[in-house]
Amino acid sequence: MTTPTLEAINIRKVYQTPAEEIVVLDCVSIALSAGENMAIVGPSGAGKSTLLQIIGTLDTPTSGTVRIGGQDPFEFNENQQARFRNERIGFVFQDHHLLPQWNVLENTLLPALATGKPSQEVRDRAVALLERVGLKHRMGHLPSQLSGGERERVAVARALVLKPMVVLADEPTGNLDQQSAETVAALLLEVPKEENAVLIVVTHSLSLAARMQHCYELNHGQLRLQ
Ligand code: ADP
Ligand code: MG
Repeated sequence: MTTPTLEAINIRKVYQTPAEEIVVLDCVSIALSAGENMAIVGPSGAGKSTLLQIIGTLDTPTSGTVRIGGQDPFEFNENQQARFRNERIGFVFQDHHLLPQWNVLENTLLPALATGKPSQEVRDRAVALLERVGLKHRMGHLPSQLSGGERERVAVARALVLKPMVVLADEPTGNLDQQSAETVAALLLEVPKEENAVLIVVTHSLSLAARMQHCYELNHGQLRLQ
């Protein structure tokens, strides 16, 4: 059997507040092989964002293990972990997190700029991704000159620019009209699969969830097959 691209094993996340212990994730496990994708649905406050942030190494689990490409990113030191996150993981957030003073092409190249000047290959890929989402003619524009749907498309292109192994999207179509949501969903479903990456999408859109290979609900700290 081949090693899964992404494994989360018995992830537990507990917040200690003065009043009580809040168990957000209780024994959550995921295994996805190259090219696989998965939707996570569930009520607000269920811990969906917390789970994505732990898988993406932006937050630490109280206990449990994450392995990406067979490596445990929580065993790395801070610099190694930041580099690993930047190169191996692509994030798409609901509120896009574009930098307002940078244009569309620069925002798309952001993960590549973290380690110096982007290579011509990466620049070509950024342009190709922007073309694919219909924004090639907008490369020199600032985020403030774009609609919400266009900004989210830039965020998707940015997440994919370094060919990550793992793509994590947190309600990527949540704020979009139907047409824009469709463009974002198509790109998210197609590109990782073509490149043998794994994709996890947290979504309230049942139509998007239905297009994914696996659909789980997170509730009461546990993942259940839908
Ligand atoms: P979702 O994305 O499913 O809406 P979140 O992952 O954002 O849920 O939050 C899960 C739960 O964790 C919520 O009940 C939230 O209040 C709680 N939570 C998040 N951060 C903290 C914290 N620092 N301290 C205590 N509780 C927290
Ligand atoms: Mg959330």
